[in-house]
Parts: sequence; C-alpha cells; structure tokens
Amino acid sequence: MSKIPDATITRLVHYLRALEQMEAEGKVRTSSEELAAAAAVTAFQVRKDLAYFGSYGTRGVGYTVPVLRRELAQILGMGRDWRLIIVGMGRLGQALADYFVGSQIYSLVAGFDVDPDKLGKKAGQVTVQHVSELAKVVAEKHVDVAILTVPGDVAQEVAEALAAAGIKGILNFTPAVLKKHHGVTVENADFMAGLSRLGFFMINPRWREEMMG
Ligand code: NAD
Repeated sequence: MSKIPDATITRLVHYLRALEQMEAEGKVRTSSEELAAAAAVTAFQVRKDLAYFGSYGTRGVGYTVPVLRRELAQILGMGRDWRLIIVGMGRLGQALADYFVGSQIYSLVAGFDVDPDKLGKKAGQVTVQHVSELAKVVAEKHVDVAILTVPGDVAQEVAEALAAAGIKGILNFTPAVLKKHHGVTVENADFMAGLSRLGFFMINPRWREEMMG
C-alpha cells in the first residue's frame, strides 16, 4: 500500500464518477479504454492504477460496472457515513456547509466559529457554535473529519485542538502547512494551487502531454 502514488487515488475518484454515471445509465460492462476516456488517461494507466488494489476485470470481457463501482467506493472509504464538522464558518465554510445538504456519503454535524455575528446562525443544515464547544461536540457526535476554513494564522492552533478532541482527518483549506500529528491524516485542498499549476501547464503544454503519457 505504501507505494501507491498520490495521483492514483485522485484518478480512482475520476473512475468512480465515470462508473456511477455508467451505472445510472444502466450500463453493465465497461473496459479500461472506456474508463480511460472518461478520466482522460490511457487504458494502461487505468489497469496499472486498479492493479494496486487487486485483480479486477477479465481479459477480453472487461469490468462489471456495479461490481467495480462498489469496489472503488469501498477502497475510497465511501459508504462509511463519515461525520464531519467545519471549523471557520466564513465565506468558504458557509459555501461548503450548503454543499453537504442531502449528501449520502458525508454527514455535516456541526459548524464552529468565534465571530459573535455568526454564532447561532444557520449554515446549510447546522447552526454555528462557538469553537470552545468543539471537544464536547466531537465526542458526543462521534465526529471523524474536520474541514478547516479558518484564517491561516490560527490554523495550526485549531488543528491541535482538533487532534486533542480526537479528530482523525483534516481537510485543510488554509494556506498553513500543518505539522504532522500522530493519528491525524491531513489532506490539503487548494484551488489557488490548482490555478498556479494550470498557469504553469498553459505556459509549458508539452510537460503536461509528457505526464499524461
Ligand atoms: P473568512 O475570513 O470569510 O472566514 C474565516 C472564518 O474563520 C471567519 O468566520 C472567522 O470568524 C473564523 N475564525 C477565525 N478564527 C477562528 C478560530 N480560532 N476558530 C474558529 N473560527 C475562527 O475566510 P474565507 O474566505 O472563508 O477563507 C477561509 C480560509 O480558506 C482562509 O485560510 C483562506 O486563506 C482559505 N482559502 C483557501 C482557498 C483554497 O484554494 N484552498 C481558497 C480561498 C480561501
């Protein structure tokens, strides 16, 4: 498991979305070529990515859509009803809170802030609470994951409070590089970095083509 490239996990998400779409259309079989086209990679890449996790599909027959969809969802930890909180209910936090309304995979159970103007207000399906209540709520509601959308200069201290409260995963939207904390998995979500990458590849299109194979 330790040698699985980061990019493989990102591509699994793309394969899963393609499979969900196929299943919704009633398609039963697919091929690595079809999955490759849906994820804008090569068929070789699809087979290589899937091979990290086991033996899927049959040569000449391809993959059974619902089976592979279920397997990928399981690999990606979906279907576990992850319980989430958002810390920092500003512009980004509030927009994200709206996004979770009705989600089948993630339950947003609380949102936290320090700004008196935001406390007690509704955001998505939660009411904003003061961050001093964090540890109590995490324990009571068995929260697994925190989305961190506070200003960068307080991100580390909030991350430490989250770790102390027993949070196991942090999706970090802030520009802060969080220190590693035993037992806490951090994933950075950064669309500004995405824009910088885009700019780089627009200036250097051949690099992208070479990476895509
Ligand atoms: P914002 O100022 O609108 O919201 C931040 C919120 O955090 C405010 O409501 C504030 O009261 C609250 N806050 C401050 N200290 C707190 C604490 N100790 N505990 C709990 N809440 C606290 O900012 P925003 O535009 O929503 O951005 C939020 C974060 O996301 C920032 O760090 C910003 O740099 C980052 N951001 C990242 C991306 C990206 O691409 N990853 C894009 C935009 C913004």
